[in-house]
Amino acid sequence: MSSQLALLCGTAAVEQDGSHFTWPPITERTKAALLQQLDQGVSIYDRSGVIERLEDELCEYHGVSRAVLTSSGTAALYSMYAARGIGPGDQVIVPAYTFFATVTPLLHLGAVPVLADCDETGNLDPKQITQCITPRTKAVVVTHMWGLPADMASLKAIAEERGLMLLEDGSHAHGASIDGQKVGTFGQAAAFSMNGPKPLSAGEGGFVLTDDDETYYRILLHGQYNKRCRNELPEDHEFYRYAVTGMGLKHRIHALAARIALDQLRDLDTYLEGRANVANYLCEQLSELPGIAVPQLPLDVRSSWYGLILRYCPDELDGLSIERFYEALHAEGCREVDRPGSTCPLNLLPLFQDPAPLMPAYGSKLAYAPGDFPVAEAVHHHTLKLPVWHREEDLPLVDSYIEAFRKVTSNYQELQG
Ligand SMILES: *Cc1c(COP(=O)(O)O)cnc(C)c1O
Repeated sequence: MSSQLALLCGTAAVEQDGSHFTWPPITERTKAALLQQLDQGVSIYDRSGVIERLEDELCEYHGVSRAVLTSSGTAALYSMYAARGIGPGDQVIVPAYTFFATVTPLLHLGAVPVLADCDETGNLDPKQITQCITPRTKAVVVTHMWGLPADMASLKAIAEERGLMLLEDGSHAHGASIDGQKVGTFGQAAAFSMNGPKPLSAGEGGFVLTDDDETYYRILLHGQYNKRCRNELPEDHEFYRYAVTGMGLKHRIHALAARIALDQLRDLDTYLEGRANVANYLCEQLSELPGIAVPQLPLDVRSSWYGLILRYCPDELDGLSIERFYEALHAEGCREVDRPGSTCPLNLLPLFQDPAPLMPAYGSKLAYAPGDFPVAEAVHHHTLKLPVWHREEDLPLVDSYIEAFRKVTSNYQELQG
């Protein structure tokens, strides 16, 4: 192998053509299931067929009593917040570092998101919560970033002590757990995305989990009007008379999307095991290189490995900029090395700096600015993300990525100046 960096006209370390990572895995079994679903129906209005099967299996997988499928993770979050009674003027503590859809549904309920900084892992820092609490604080929302469970013991203790709801966005972390307890089961409710690349994928879709029947009924009223509400709300429920219209929004999942997710769920634990093996291998190899820090997982924590988050440490490479390092890796053929863009500290996004032109009701209630969340901004700036492959047949590709990192870190001086 040539040691000349590809960015400086050498030969690339990664030679494989085509796509380096695709998700979700579509097998012959997936295709057969979809064909069968086409015969069974593509539009399901009630909790029957594939909708019932998938909701039941999600309940069983997580050990909760209620699951509602939705058209997206955003819709799941929206329904969850509405069902938990979050409304105008309520303050909700949210991670400053998350995908923005964790927070944007709150803006449609008139609630005020209060951003809190993360710790070095990228997850909401429990130590930042207390100072955000006011008499109007109603809930704390936590995202398990890139699949790594947040510090739920601390967050739960604070929420309980201060009488706040604890809600989870599990969109990165299907199947992740702490001491065997799955993400999505720590608070009063949890929302998940099943969008394309998410660990459990429907292509497009989402779901909410809860053990609370009242929350369940209100989720149905929010976005699953008419048949589901008429069939499932008890006739003596105070809102049964609204069953036909509910709150008038429609967040139903497509039956074909549900069928894809049902097929994926069957293999989720196998995929996660495969990912854990590849992630361990990558961490072992990359941790030896200067300039790269790998995540340290507590022993009782299982990640979904939605992404492997590497922290770039320029100090170990004479201050070489991450931009130049990233450029060199891409030149080596590491197409899948990513610097996440839209998933960023929310204070860097115009919607959280100056929402009024789009959402006049917000006036000046949100006026975040760059510099407000130093830890999140540093974590974000230094993040290099890798997908985590799950199959043994991907190991040669994984090895070539490791080789590319080795090549760039050992020849970094050539990139300077
Ligand atoms: C993907 C994602 C969402 C939104 O889900 P969609 O299905 O795309 O609507 C929300 N929160 C997080 C953390 C996500 O990653």
